[in-house]
Amino acid sequence: MEQDQLDECRIAAALYSIGALPDEEKQQFEQRLAGGCPFCTSQLHEYASVAKELALSVPLEQPDPSLRRRLLDRLETVPMNVQARADITLVRADETSWTSLPIPGVEIRPLLGEKTLLVRMQPGSSYPAHEHRYDEQCYVLEGSVVDSFGVTAHAGDFVCMPAGSTHQPIHTDTGCVFLIAYTP
Ligand SMILES: [Zn+2]
Repeated sequence: MEQDQLDECRIAAALYSIGALPDEEKQQFEQRLAGGCPFCTSQLHEYASVAKELALSVPLEQPDPSLRRRLLDRLETVPMNVQARADITLVRADETSWTSLPIPGVEIRPLLGEKTLLVRMQPGSSYPAHEHRYDEQCYVLEGSVVDSFGVTAHAGDFVCMPAGSTHQPIHTDTGCVFLIAYTP
């Protein structure tokens, strides 16, 4: 995969994880994290181990012009935390772990890369409004969730929202688990 094919957001997460993101971009990325963007959070989660490894060998105080290239080279070879064969990807039920978002009562669990994940919301929790950078497909697995227009999606219901759309705040009284898939 070439550098220009790597997603801008993915690069930001990777550079952020080693403290190498320029100030302005850093603030934007932190805003997306603070807003609970599941896409950014899962990317950060995914590259944490790479960042840790690189941080041991990189003097972070001194900007290194080769750092970005080296990091991108590493990202291209990061193995996914799954058992993979030529034609199947199997992620066991306990193979990836839940990560808390900076939103009370909301966690995510990556399933495939950073674009397919589970979201778990505790009873009484809410998820703030957010914009979609990709098409967002959502399938409710457990419980129910209601949006600010009063529309409730129950277990078994499917919702799709296009890239560029804004998701109004959602809330769950019962608690819920849903699968999210982002597609370009
Ligand atoms: Zn959304």
